[in-house]
Amino acid sequence: MKKIISILSFLLMVVLHVSGQTNNSSIASYGFKVIPLGVKGGLDESNLSAYLVAASGNDQFICLDAGTIYKGLELAVASKLFKPVNPSSIQQQQINSYFISHAHLDHTAGLIMNSPNDNAKNLYGLASVLEIFKKNYFTWSAWANFGNEGEAPILKKYSYQNLIPKVEIPIDNTGLFVTPFVLSHVKPYESTAFLVRNQNNYLLYLGDTGADMVEQSTQLAALWKAVAPLVLKNQLKAIFIEVSFDNSVPEKALFGHLTPTLLMEEMATLNALSNGNLKNTALYVTHVKPCEGCETKIKSEIQAANQIGLKISYPLQATLIELK
Ligand SMILES: [Zn+2]
Ligand SMILES: [Zn+2]
Repeated sequence: MKKIISILSFLLMVVLHVSGQTNNSSIASYGFKVIPLGVKGGLDESNLSAYLVAASGNDQFICLDAGTIYKGLELAVASKLFKPVNPSSIQQQQINSYFISHAHLDHTAGLIMNSPNDNAKNLYGLASVLEIFKKNYFTWSAWANFGNEGEAPILKKYSYQNLIPKVEIPIDNTGLFVTPFVLSHVKPYESTAFLVRNQNNYLLYLGDTGADMVEQSTQLAALWKAVAPLVLKNQLKAIFIEVSFDNSVPEKALFGHLTPTLLMEEMATLNALSNGNLKNTALYVTHVKPCEGCETKIKSEIQAANQIGLKISYPLQATLIELK
């Protein structure tokens, strides 16, 4: 009898162990993979803000901003992140849709330049952002009208999809959901933060933004309030946020961007709202504006200001980031 009990308890342990493993692996599949196609905030037109995001285990990506597309895909193929086909084929087949934070050229040039070779797909943005595509970019004087509205003839390649602030929408075939939040990028111009969800896990990507104090805005405060509960529950896996200039740049010359000091002030606000749990969310600093020695200076200023011990990284072009 004792033998039977010990065999049964052994079997029970095996079952519990196996089911525990199954749970772990299903949690892991709710993560994200991110492939930055470009990471800088200016000058080098082959490396401007654009981030491919997919649910783990899915090969349909959404593209958050689209400063650089072709060169980023070419380098991603060279790094074996995609099968060796030409960048246009990957763009056609694996970029499901675009989410544009704001219409500045360092966030849109790759999309516009590669539009002739792309497939029909959705272009998501706030109404104020899509308006600029309709009036300024997809016109016959600036380029060609690849949109589904505006100047005739209308080529209907990109279908404009108005995003409503704080309203989550599902993205077909990706397993992802996206909620937009308005940001202030030199008042009254709007930029956008995209909160991307896969099951119960989240990733937050911010387009260009100034600090609330400088912009005399409350948009970041509202965003931090909205995501703090996710930080608290370890559901926010990563924040991608800009730092364009080093601390020596005066407020008047920031033009709606952050410095290391301003970033850390904003992060301190979010950390306080989430009971000091922000160190469990990975922080990726994006959109550094190139200048002599800037990158080194910004990195050391951020490190010096990182009193709360955040996990800070700098995304690299065509280098996979896995978030679990
Ligand atoms: Zn920018
Ligand atoms: Zn901008």
